[in-house]
Amino acid sequence: MKYQSTRDNKAKKIESAQAIKQGLASDGGLFVPEEIPSLTEKDIMALCPLSYPERAADILSRYLTDYTYEELLEDCRKAYSETSFVGGAAPLKNIHDNIYSLELWHGPTAAFKDMALQIMPRLLSRALKKTGEERTALILVATSGDTGKAALEGYKDIDSVKIMVFYPTGGVSRVQKLQMATQEGSNVNVCAIKGNFDDAQSNVKKIFADADMARALDEKGYFFSSANSINWGRLVPQIVYYISAYCDLVNEGRIKIGDKINFCVPTGNFGNIFAAYLAKLMGLPIARLICASNMNNVLTDFLETGTYDRNRTFHLTMSPSMDILISSNLERLLYFCAGANETSEYMKSLSETGKYTVSSDVKAKIDELFKGYCADEKETARIIKETFDKYGYLCDTHTAVGVSAAEKYCSEATDSTITVVDSTASPYKFAADVYTALGKTAPADPLDALEELSKYSGTEIAYPLKNLASRKVRFDKIIEADEMPGEVLNFAK
Ligand SMILES: *Cc1c(COP(=O)(O)O)cnc(C)c1O
Repeated sequence: MKYQSTRDNKAKKIESAQAIKQGLASDGGLFVPEEIPSLTEKDIMALCPLSYPERAADILSRYLTDYTYEELLEDCRKAYSETSFVGGAAPLKNIHDNIYSLELWHGPTAAFKDMALQIMPRLLSRALKKTGEERTALILVATSGDTGKAALEGYKDIDSVKIMVFYPTGGVSRVQKLQMATQEGSNVNVCAIKGNFDDAQSNVKKIFADADMARALDEKGYFFSSANSINWGRLVPQIVYYISAYCDLVNEGRIKIGDKINFCVPTGNFGNIFAAYLAKLMGLPIARLICASNMNNVLTDFLETGTYDRNRTFHLTMSPSMDILISSNLERLLYFCAGANETSEYMKSLSETGKYTVSSDVKAKIDELFKGYCADEKETARIIKETFDKYGYLCDTHTAVGVSAAEKYCSEATDSTITVVDSTASPYKFAADVYTALGKTAPADPLDALEELSKYSGTEIAYPLKNLASRKVRFDKIIEADEMPGEVLNFAK
């Protein structure tokens, strides 16, 4: 299987290892597979008795044909082990009636990015060997909190890779700071900088673009790489849990193989829901994909009108991982509905005017499968309270946006099809907001909020967030933003 850019059908196609190493296509497009592997009813039946890592290796091997099945199985077993994903990689829980929660947050940082970031670095490490790269990849990340921690956990102790994370001293919560300062692993480094997130981000970008830095690193046997969310290596592992959830429903006797189900995805960058779309293209029986947004509802409007318009007010919400106005992975959906030429035009329009309108033909294709809903802050809080009080299920702020959309869809469409909502973060990741939504007053210290929420709800604090205050602090350096390049060179030894 070969890979190509979303913006060009004619350029030379490359193997998956090269696509994973490279990240972005040279024309600025995203990598997509040239064809979609099929998943038959017989295939699904064969996956049903398997464990999550075995299901994952099977699905990945259909896309990453330049990796052997044995390599993928070894990586999946390590990535989705019982010690990393306590309680299973992607357990399915019934919320009420036909609505289920697919819990994607049992990994080492208690949020769904772990599903991809626990395996992607292993794929990258192998990609370096497969492409004959002899240097070590140096991953640089600027973070406002969660991505940095998830990347640190994913890349720690991976061969041929080192990772360095910068965060703004004042810009992250105490919990996030503690999580990063206590990070384990022999190939990691964490540094706080004086300034805000933009200072961290713009300096990382400058370092990436600096030819002198690249030369100095090359002499030391390193090259820069990014942990970018649009990398194919982060997308492909996300297809697995849709298929796995379907198998679990079959195993529970809730559906027969061939029955259709809906998935509802709290969406930001459109990566997660695009992975569900690929599962559908492969042959997984999916009736509807429900795209759930918070007040930053650019996608709801797009699905309604066919016009994507990022020229609008940006809202800070209690579901911050969905506070996004450019959903980069939507480009991949456009490619599959419109082809490379048209996609390229839409993206040109987006970068020049901040908007584009898809043709009626493309709109009709998208309408067949997708439906969008959004929830404001009040609705999100109401759902958290109702879902807990009525059904005893505690969900985080992002998941609540999803539950809201799923309920709206099911009542509007009078649809009793099983609807699986992606639960993208542990409620403990956003303990203070969840506790407040339940009608309680959150304590000032976020560490206390964890305890209070646990006591009130009778649920256990997610393991990555337990005993944070008593862990050993390994990184406490605070530097000026202009000292970042020196720090990077120092780390590359
Ligand atoms: C990243 C993230 C999302 C959004 O996922 P996309 O793939 O960007 O659509 C939703 N919820 C949480 C908790 C996240 O971290």
